[in-house]
Amino acid sequence: MSPSLPTSSSVDVILIGAGIMSATLGTMLKELQPDLTIAIFERLDLVAAESSDAWNNAGTGHSAFCELNYTPQRPDGSVDISKAVKIAEQFEQSKQFWSYFVQKGVLPEPHEFIQQVPHMSFVWGDNNVDFLRKRFDALIQSPLFQGMQYSEDRQQLADWMPLVMEGRDPHTSVAATYMPIGTDVNFGSLTRTLFERLQAMPGVSFHLNHEVEKLKQKPDGTWRIRVRDRAADTSRKVYGKFVFIGAGGGSLPLLEKSDIPEGHGFGGFPVSGQWLKCTNPEVIARHGAKVYGKAAVGSPPMSVPHLDTRQINGRKELLFGPYAGFTTKFLKKGSYLDLLKSIRAGNVRPMLIAGAKNLPLTRYLIQQVRQSPQDRLNALRDYLPTARAEDWELEVAGQRVQVIKKDAKEGGVLEFGTEVVAAADGSIAALLGASPGASTAVSIMLGLVQRCFPEQAATPEWQAKFKAMIPSFGQELASNPALCEELRAKTSEVLELEAVAQ
Ligand SMILES: Cc1cc2nc3c(=O)[nH]c(=O)nc-3n(C[C@H](O)[C@H](O)[C@H](O)COP(=O)(O)OP(=O)(O)OC[C@H]3O[C@@H](n4cnc5c(N)ncnc54)[C@H](O)[C@@H]3O)c2cc1C
Repeated sequence: MSPSLPTSSSVDVILIGAGIMSATLGTMLKELQPDLTIAIFERLDLVAAESSDAWNNAGTGHSAFCELNYTPQRPDGSVDISKAVKIAEQFEQSKQFWSYFVQKGVLPEPHEFIQQVPHMSFVWGDNNVDFLRKRFDALIQSPLFQGMQYSEDRQQLADWMPLVMEGRDPHTSVAATYMPIGTDVNFGSLTRTLFERLQAMPGVSFHLNHEVEKLKQKPDGTWRIRVRDRAADTSRKVYGKFVFIGAGGGSLPLLEKSDIPEGHGFGGFPVSGQWLKCTNPEVIARHGAKVYGKAAVGSPPMSVPHLDTRQINGRKELLFGPYAGFTTKFLKKGSYLDLLKSIRAGNVRPMLIAGAKNLPLTRYLIQQVRQSPQDRLNALRDYLPTARAEDWELEVAGQRVQVIKKDAKEGGVLEFGTEVVAAADGSIAALLGASPGASTAVSIMLGLVQRCFPEQAATPEWQAKFKAMIPSFGQELASNPALCEELRAKTSEVLELEAVAQ
């Protein structure tokens, strides 16, 4: 870690939080303008210890290959793939960005953060089978989903996922899609490597155990933040021209403290999660895919159950979940007062209205919180019929804070995506929400840079750098099959994405 800051100091950019979002933004900005000075503050004594840690998220490289909630069914029965196409496109940008830094030697060991793991959707029951077939028929038209396979044949399904088919009722109709080029990403490892490199760069100072407590814009447009050194219990002021609030669940309280008009009316709804983690190496060895199912009625989209092969720190793992839960904390290592403290005169109405309009979600969370170990095992057996309780242990996942925002028509709405809130002058931006999350960090930060640094972003120098980091920058892969194929082949080679033997 770099030496402590003097009692007061001034930098170009302040990054709050050492998760994947700040790591991505810092890396991108330094590439665009190497002489930028950056100060990074993280309240914990570790990098990527909240949502970005591998055990706190599902590690799915979200490409919409398997997540059924990205392809809603329209009232006429057809399937809307527009969101899936957007997410697939965004993940390709992430792969290009990471490939660029692999080639530069910044990310020397791609297999330490990304592995190829097939992505599958699996459903049962005639209506769901019908939906999955329609979804496949729609997706396969797009270049981004070439290579996806669909089957209702039990033998084929057993080849793709033997454990999921073993012991299953032979009379229920089943179907699955299989996408060989899915990925598992260790966002924690990626974040740590990016920060190791950033903090060694000239002009960058990095401070663990430092919590940002206050933010105030000065008349000249720059920001003064108050940071507390949690180890020494001392505070200091730091000045920055641009501030990124990348504090995960801690972003909402900081946005409120900044008091920018664009941040008024936002609230947060915390949803916690739990996994079942497999402890039996024989079971882990027999599964080799991320198998996503359909979410229960009334459940939030991020609680779609999935049986997930993971590659974490060189070991193959198997997780099932997430089981949702409720706590008033905004961070896994946060305070039970977080929710209460976030309530302001400006957001109480949207929060109450969003709460009243989402009663099925509240009911679902209550039911999830009250689940017994047997209930959890039964949910697992929907996917792995022969599962035994003794092969699985319960782990706490990361904390999400879903965005609640003011809405002219509805009064208040609960959102499940991510939201960048930026001041009109571009001097501060915060990232709220958590889905599709880390997989789309590159595209989110690319948008943020263009919004907050519009003049520099328009220069030929920055445009050329965008293009170098993300060769598909400014183009749509969905309407350019040749480019899609070419860039996929290139990123697969650079990221060493090969089929992993089961
Ligand atoms: C259960 C679960 C499953 C998920 N699955 C996936 C998945 O499969 N694929 C995917 O792409 N995404 C997934 N996500 C989302 C993904 O994990 C997040 O979008 C991403 O990690 C957010 O990164 P971040 O940098 O914004 O936040 P974080 O990683 O949470 O980092 C924020 C940091 O800010 C620090 N901080 C907070 N307050 C302050 C303060 N006041 N001062 C200084 N530091 C502060 C925190 O300590 C933390 O280290 C999942 C999330 C969860 C919870």
